[in-house]
This record gives sequence, C-alpha cells and structure tokens, in this order.
Amino acid sequence: MTLAVKLSLGCIADDYTGASDLANTLTRCGLRTVQTIGVPRDDLALPEVDAVVVSLKSRSIEAGLAVARSRAAEKWLRGRGASHVLFKICSTFDSTDAGNIGPVMDALRADSGDTIVLVTPAFPQTGRTVYQGNLFVGSVPLNESPLKDHPLNPMHDSNLVRVLARQSRTKVGLVDLAVLSRGVDAVRARLADLASRGIGAAVVDAVFDPDLETIGKVALDHRVSVGASGIGLGLARALVTSGKARANAADAMSDAPVGGPAACLAGSCSQATLGQIANAERVMPVLHLDPDRVVAGKEEGLRALAWAKQRLEQGPVLIASSSTPDQVAALQARYGRDAAGHAIEQAMADIAEGLVRSGLRRLVVAGGETSGAVVDRLGIPGFLVGAEIAAGVPVLRAVGDKQGDMLLALKSGNFGGPEFFSDALKLMR
Ligand code: ADP
Repeated sequence: MTLAVKLSLGCIADDYTGASDLANTLTRCGLRTVQTIGVPRDDLALPEVDAVVVSLKSRSIEAGLAVARSRAAEKWLRGRGASHVLFKICSTFDSTDAGNIGPVMDALRADSGDTIVLVTPAFPQTGRTVYQGNLFVGSVPLNESPLKDHPLNPMHDSNLVRVLARQSRTKVGLVDLAVLSRGVDAVRARLADLASRGIGAAVVDAVFDPDLETIGKVALDHRVSVGASGIGLGLARALVTSGKARANAADAMSDAPVGGPAACLAGSCSQATLGQIANAERVMPVLHLDPDRVVAGKEEGLRALAWAKQRLEQGPVLIASSSTPDQVAALQARYGRDAAGHAIEQAMADIAEGLVRSGLRRLVVAGGETSGAVVDRLGIPGFLVGAEIAAGVPVLRAVGDKQGDMLLALKSGNFGGPEFFSDALKLMR
C-alpha cells in the first residue's frame, strides 16, 4: 500500500449505487479501480490504482451542500494526481430544475479552469441514448419514460440542453451526432467554436458505443467531464488505447487469496434473493432470523452471532431475515415500514460487526440498504473492485487498514443467478 499513486482518472459519483456501477465499468475496461465511501481522509493508503470513484450521496440534497462535497472530493482526487475528473450522474439525468448537476458542474469547471465541459448521460448498451440533445430511455424520450413519475426527481423535459441550461450559470450548447460521427477533430473544432461564443457546457449526442470512445478521447483534452457510466467507459477505453493506463491489470491486482472464515447475510426480500437462499440451504447451514424478535431487541442478533461463531470453522454460513411479500407486509403493518426495516438493517450490521471482530474475512451481503448499513458499521473507507460474480456484482477488497485484508460482495435485490451465494464464495478465496 502506498500514498503516492498518480491517478489516471478521478470520479465523483452523486450516489453509491451509481458509483459502484461506474467502478465496475472502469474495472471491466481494465482500469484498476477503487471506490471510496465518501471523501477519503488525506492519509488513506491505496494500492496502486488507475482510477478512484468517490461515492457521495449528493443527488437530491441541497445544491450548496452538493457543491461543497463535490469540490472536497475533487480536491482529494487532484491531490492524488488525477488530471481528469468525471462527475458521475445518473444515466436518466435524474435532476429537476432545482437539481445539482448544473451547480456542481459550474463549480468543478471554475476550479479546473476548463472553458467548456462535455456532458452526456448516454450509455447505449443500457438503452440510454442522446440524439439532438434529447435523452431516450429505451425507445421513448425521457419525459415519456417512467422517470416522468420519479418520486424525487420527476423528469418532464427530455432536452438536456434546456434542462442543464435551467440549472447552470453558463450557456449550454450541443455537439450533435453528425459532428460526432466525423470524429475527434470535428468534435474538437465544434467545442472550440462553442467555447468562443461563451458557451461553457456542451451536451454531446451518443447513440452507439463507439460514440462513447470518440467522446472519451476528446474529454481527456479537458480537466472535467459530466456523464454516466457510458462516458466512464469512453474515458477508460481512451486511457487504455493512449497507453496512459494498462488494461487487464484489475484482476491480477485483486486475486491474492484472503482465506479465513466466510459468511453470508441476506436482508433483501426480493424474489431473486429468496430463491438464492433456498438454493444455499443445500450447501451451507442457514439461520432464518425471527423478524418480530429482531424488532423487539438485540437478543435475536446475539443468538444469530453465537450460532454462526459455532459453525464458521467448518465452513460458510448464511443468516437471513428475508421473508415472503405477505410476511414482510404483515411485519410492516405491526411496526411501521421504516422501523421494521431499520431494526433489521441494524441487526445485520451488529451481526457483521461481531463476525468481523471474531475473525471473519469474507462477507457476502444481499440487499442494497442492508449492504449500506453493514459497510457503514464496518467503517470501510473503500473497495478495490475485482472479478465479477454476476453482472454488476464484483468481488470487493476492502482498502484502509482498520479491518485488515477482507473480501466482500454487495448485491442489491434482484442481482445474481440462482446459485449466487456459492458463486460468490467460489470467487472470494
Ligand atoms: P433490496 O436490494 O432487495 O431492495 P434492501 O436491503 O435494500 O434489499 O432492502 C430490504 C429492506 O427490507 C431492508 O430495509 C431490510 O431491513 C428489510 N427487511 C429485511 N427482512 C425483512 C422482513 N422479514 N420483513 C420486513 N422487512 C425486512
């Protein structure tokens, strides 16, 4: 571990799952990537990596706070030598007129001294395309997609040039597909033209994956860009083809075995997770928590911890709170949804903490919120992203010295195949 690592790419993500998705995308492109939880301490020791993704929770908070946190993240990344910083937003833009993308972009642009910033949430392989500045989700414009009814950030305008201009202090222009298809020099010329007219941000069309590569190459001329995992892919490919980062270093980096006891925790009640738990019953001891007793107090967690400790020497175990939708609804009716969820998440965090204290080195967690509660409790500052267990679910190696060498897999509800728990443990050696 060393402090003196010069990053090829720094990223600031406005939410945790988006950060994981980006970190996973960069790793799959061959960049050695660490995802941090929040802005790291100045002295965080990192292995030699190409990219760091700082995960913030700044998508839907007050704009001033989002700007301050993003600038702190940028400062940390620049301090580690990042010459380019990507502000990672959602591929559905996910930001109302009062939203934070424009203000954060303005601040990062001012800090970096860039005259113009490339902006695109496009990620064609996941159905997000931008044409004439309009964002499409699959075959429909953003404002006709389910995002029009998003509970926090309803999107009523698919034209990102307009949306961003309403949020930003700078004028916003467009690099359209016709220009993009003529290649990097044409894009550079268009950007120079826009910048000469005082335009400080350019939404860039992208309809096919190679469009992202063109955008990535041009973006590397600049100090800041804004976009989703798609532009992350473009930047990563540009870094690799230009020789600024070496491809395929990621797997070699994170493959050293950790060994030691292993356990799985499931707090997700998704259909996929329920099936994965049923399959795990055939290959490892499984303890089903009594959710009423979890809500009632700490006893049930302690019982589970004692149960696990007795068995860990013999092999992995699984502790699950997961119930069927009817049972979940009944529990929520008795205690309230938030109180029930919170109590179970904290019980899972208690169990994880107890297991790690008694020497656990490999931990699989099913459930997005459950994973968040566990990671917060363990105080893990960040992860090196490793091999993929299932689409979007990589093996993670904890960085930072407090918890020692440790592997984790964090899966949100519907991810992973039917044998997810065994699949994860096979790769987490
Ligand atoms: P997912 O990724 O599937 O959404 P999460 O962990 O994000 O999973 O959310 C599951 C939520 O359900 C958590 O708040 C968890 O504490 C809660 N939960 C877990 N088991 C039960 C249960 N038996 N009854 C009610 N809520 C539960």
